[in-house]
Amino acid sequence: MMRKTAMIYLFSDSGLAVLHDFIDSETLFAFDLDGTLAPIADDPGAIRVSAAVQQSLAHLKELAVLAVITGRSREDALRHLGVAPQYLVGNHGAEGLSGWEQHEADFRRLGDQWNRQLRQSLPDRDTLGIAIENKRLSVSIHYRGAVNRTAARSVARKAVDLLTPQPRVVGGKYVLNLLPAEAPNKGTALLQLLSLSGCRKGLFVGDDRTDEAVFQLKGDHLFTVRVGGGTGSRARYFLRSQREVPLLLRHIIAVLTQRNP
Ligand SMILES: [Mg+2]
Repeated sequence: MMRKTAMIYLFSDSGLAVLHDFIDSETLFAFDLDGTLAPIADDPGAIRVSAAVQQSLAHLKELAVLAVITGRSREDALRHLGVAPQYLVGNHGAEGLSGWEQHEADFRRLGDQWNRQLRQSLPDRDTLGIAIENKRLSVSIHYRGAVNRTAARSVARKAVDLLTPQPRVVGGKYVLNLLPAEAPNKGTALLQLLSLSGCRKGLFVGDDRTDEAVFQLKGDHLFTVRVGGGTGSRARYFLRSQREVPLLLRHIIAVLTQRNP
């Protein structure tokens, strides 16, 4: 088994030194949304990107290339962001990547199919505290609101096992994300955005299992940050909580402004 290197706290002396050396005008700055740019909310519809973060994103967009790679649909993400980044990829990588337009229609059909099947196989989902979110190109089954989350998860898991065709399942924080097996993931998305934008380097911040597709990419041209410590992540750096993300944004802006006054 490959050994995982422990993540370094980003706001440590060594973390900050590497960050300063890394970022410049040729860096793509990419962020996840839920749990990264906004705190997680019990009701996924109720997340809020603070005015301060919105302002920072607008500022960063003027200084460099900004991307958001989220599990939400693009339309939904835009509503919350308040700022349109240069690149916005939705549905965990499956929506909005150039070159994949043809496949998106297939992904949408799959999403609708799974959504219909799940609504039939989980008739008592409300009582169990399970919510099905149809994101068009993917489906998320949330069980954050369940009184017994373990039981809810196993009921949801059984319903997923019955789906035809079978989706690729990526777990998360009290959620099962169902994705088309062929859809690009967040890692594929980031690499493609680097090539599309012509940026030589990429910084990515995320907090959840689907972000590991980026964290596991190798190379000195990538700077990966996981929000929330813990073990088992392949990210190089971590922040202690989402509350530190606004500070990171201001920090990046300060460094870029210093470089290009
Ligand atoms: Mg997230």
